[in-house]
Amino acid sequence: MFAQVIIDQDVKAIDKIFEYNIPSNMSILVGMRVYVPFGKRVLQGYVISISEDCSYDKNKVKDIISPIDQFPAIKKQMLEVMQFMVKKNHLTMASTLRLFLPSQMREGKVKEIFETFYYLRQHDFVPKSNAIKQKLLIDFLKKEGKVSSSKLGEMFGYQTIKTLYDKKVLEKEKEKIERIPYFIPKQDKKVVLNYMQNEAIKKISSEGVYLLHGVTGSGKTEVYMHLIERELAKGKNAIMLVPEISLTPQMVSNFKARFGDFVALLHSGLSAGEKFDEWKRIFSGQAKIVIGARSAIFAPIENLGIIIIDEEHEQSYISESNPRYFTHDIAKFRAKQNNCPLVLGSATPSIESYKKAIDGDYNLVELPVRANGKELPAIQIVDMIGELRRGNSGIFSAQLIADLNEVVTQKKQAMMFINRRGFSSFMRCRDCGYIAKCSDCDVSLVYHKEDNRLKCHYCGKQYKVLTRCPNCKSENIKHGAVGTEQVVSKLKELFPDIKILRMDNDTTSTKNSHQKILNEFKNSLPGVLVGTQMIAKGHDFENVTLVGIIDADQSLFQADYRSTERTFQLITQVAGRAGRSKDEGKVILQTYAPRHYVYKFASNYDYKGFFKKESNIRQTAQFPPYTRIIRALFADCDENNARELLKICYTNIENLKDEFSNEILYLDAMKSPIKKIQNKFRFQILMRLKLEKADEIEKKVFDIVNNATKTNVFIEINPTNMS
Ligand code: ADP
Ligand code: ZN
Ligand code: ZN
Repeated sequence: MFAQVIIDQDVKAIDKIFEYNIPSNMSILVGMRVYVPFGKRVLQGYVISISEDCSYDKNKVKDIISPIDQFPAIKKQMLEVMQFMVKKNHLTMASTLRLFLPSQMREGKVKEIFETFYYLRQHDFVPKSNAIKQKLLIDFLKKEGKVSSSKLGEMFGYQTIKTLYDKKVLEKEKEKIERIPYFIPKQDKKVVLNYMQNEAIKKISSEGVYLLHGVTGSGKTEVYMHLIERELAKGKNAIMLVPEISLTPQMVSNFKARFGDFVALLHSGLSAGEKFDEWKRIFSGQAKIVIGARSAIFAPIENLGIIIIDEEHEQSYISESNPRYFTHDIAKFRAKQNNCPLVLGSATPSIESYKKAIDGDYNLVELPVRANGKELPAIQIVDMIGELRRGNSGIFSAQLIADLNEVVTQKKQAMMFINRRGFSSFMRCRDCGYIAKCSDCDVSLVYHKEDNRLKCHYCGKQYKVLTRCPNCKSENIKHGAVGTEQVVSKLKELFPDIKILRMDNDTTSTKNSHQKILNEFKNSLPGVLVGTQMIAKGHDFENVTLVGIIDADQSLFQADYRSTERTFQLITQVAGRAGRSKDEGKVILQTYAPRHYVYKFASNYDYKGFFKKESNIRQTAQFPPYTRIIRALFADCDENNARELLKICYTNIENLKDEFSNEILYLDAMKSPIKKIQNKFRFQILMRLKLEKADEIEKKVFDIVNNATKTNVFIEINPTNMS
């Protein structure tokens, strides 16, 4: 028998199938990892198929040296996922397969851990009457059978164990143990679903993609749990994806409480050992529900009854570094493989997903009201230019200060949200609110400090820095944004006696720091939590009655065609933190562009109105989802090399215009907005395509680039970061 093997090296030139002989005394299965001779070296590989015959010269074909594991680490369905991704995302087979295994496994680093367990050897031993601990220990073991050393030691003392062991009353043995990250006892608390939730569950029954559009607090989590329960009862498994586990601790504890050890967690916060153990529990079928960030879509689990992507609009579902992929694509493929539903849940679906629901590609399921019947909090728009005119040039509007005072006297809580994304910023007239935009692209220009210029991150066009507003002639033009620290120190001046906490990248770098800050906030009445995007999601604090959005425009005027959509999503999400319990909530939204359509729709929670307006604009301006953007980024330490490579590729891509003159809406080559990163010079080719033949053109672009070069080119589809 012969094995078709992929070598575990992320090198394009050897990313193909090699054949090896399976020695007759060796048992090899499809999906196993193996050691094989390769040239003069011994390398790791994956067996992707087995055949009786060999297309290579039988006298020259080499033997597999040995299997690495005793089981096929890559399951059959995952081999299919690999084929799908290689084609869809133009990836190498090896780099794709690597996504499916804990990295420690490939490096052979993870050691299984063992613990000592004790059990009774003599059942009729009677300890002396004053040896109470010994008696208790024996009674305990009679009831429990076998108990770990650490548990017995904690309960009865290690000396007691030793004494009984020395007397040969106890026997011990070593057993492998699994490290289960946080253990939470199982509870049987069940919520009675309301009418809308029940309807949603009924609708989500057969194969297909379902967009679950539910307002914040509508009880989507309960719907997810019921759907999963239903599939478990049929003997099936589930995958549930969340944007980032550390930001959704409540979701995780709810699931652990409901499903106990059936839940496995996969995310970056786990130690290498924990990750490997969870992977094994999933692999072996002990765990039936996988919860994790985007890479959990690669969990080694088959017989899926449902896949859920919560907060489906989140950017974290796009893998932006190699290997690049979009989680939704893979989830769809896996759902099809298993003939099961895929649920995309959100209060603010992405424009792309909602368009698919409107077009009939997805089934739309709606939860339009909060589960507890409460109204969504009122959002008040505050015009910060008006504040300036009234002589208030501070961070907080008069209204926000008044509302904060109210929170303090009522001993309630407030959350202050500061929008910080990237390091770039835009230029704005402090008097009329004018924002500098690219005349060709209609996106805001980004200020680049090093050469003191404004740049368009889409077409590369550069502009002189403004010193005078073209709109109102004012010279009061500024760039830069407020930071969390500034807000905290201002709040401390205003309210010296109350607890003010900060949550951002700086304060959450250590393990469990999120949880610590959140716990401290929970117990602070009155209290204020100041934070970035991190405080926007999922938190359910019953005493929060006020949410302040300090500078809503920060995400609005980013150089990104999705910036308006993001702003709408952020406002809705942040606002959803207020008034979740008995007390009514309120949101203050501070902006320098109060008449922008996004604020009108967001303050009325009018998602559909926003979708209509925004998708019209995208269609007119020829942006996704109505077109496809491709960016090829060339980076090299040698500027001339990068430029040469760019030229070759550009010439070839330009030739595509002969065949696809109608489909290529835009094509240009230029320096990247950030010219040099880590000493590498950066150039880019940008193109925008009509959708009709986009797949075909995309494939050709990849081929051109891959033929011209082996390294240092990144191709991105609809990139979110254009720097
Ligand atoms: P979402 O994820 O849609 O924002 P959650 O799932 O967090 O909303 O639910 C919001 C709150 O409503 C939670 O405290 C949850 O326990 C509660 N809840 C959900 N469903 C019901 C129900 N049927 N009856 C009462 N409370 C519910
Ligand atoms: Zn102006
Ligand atoms: Zn431009």
